[in-house]
Amino acid sequence: LVVSSPPAISLDNAGFKYGEQGFELKEITTHIKPYTQAAIVGRSGSGKSTILNLLSGLVSPQTGQVLVEGQPLSEWTEDSWFRQVSYISQRPYVFAGSITENIAIGGNQEATREEIEEAAKKAGIWDLAMSLDQGFDTQVGEGGRGLSGGEKQRLAIARAFLKKPSIILFDEPTTGLDLKTEQILQQSIKELSAQATVITVAHRLHTIKHAELILFLKDGRLEAAGTHDQL
Ligand code: ATP
Ligand code: MG
Repeated sequence: LVVSSPPAISLDNAGFKYGEQGFELKEITTHIKPYTQAAIVGRSGSGKSTILNLLSGLVSPQTGQVLVEGQPLSEWTEDSWFRQVSYISQRPYVFAGSITENIAIGGNQEATREEIEEAAKKAGIWDLAMSLDQGFDTQVGEGGRGLSGGEKQRLAIARAFLKKPSIILFDEPTTGLDLKTEQILQQSIKELSAQATVITVAHRLHTIKHAELILFLKDGRLEAAGTHDQL
């Protein structure tokens, strides 16, 4: 199953529980149309990132299902799904390798140095890369130079610029970014969103106000869904 425009995504009574006694995300049902800019809001620990994990396909619901174009996500091949999704999680994965290699992952190994640097610029990570001893060849990840959470997120956004996904899952940073970085992030997500469905775990009023669908989570339940004006 291959689609070029974003697929419709639904959660159909999707539930997920961490262990026997752990937190439970309870029977979430919602429908997200192609190109929707959606925001997930709720207190810390309400289950926001857990929903993104389910939508990304990295974990599967234990009850109910995630539907993509009406078909269970589990029936899609990993390739056909992961090729279209960029997940900018709270702690993006950085593997041991150069910055260049870390940006050009997941089917983008053929990207040219120019394309990689362009993506890095759009994601606001170019200046940092250039300031390091070995520039874009600097080793990061295990055994290499450490990156902050925000820097890892920008690395993940640079990956997204190369990938041109039709679905973007973005766990917006909570902590104080400097104004310039904040503006770069906002601009880059906006640019990526022109071609994609974007589902953002939102902390910024700006993101929430501009969302076409807000999902409000409370203690693992979907308390309300609608626009800013409706809620
Ligand atoms: P925040 O705004 O702080 O990022 P969140 O709404 O994203 O919070 P989740 O990360 O979805 O919250 O976590 C929901 C609950 O599940 C929390 O109580 C958390 O401690 C718990 N939890 C998350 N990941 C795991 C895990 N791997 N094992 C056990 N419990 C977990
Ligand atoms: Mg979270």
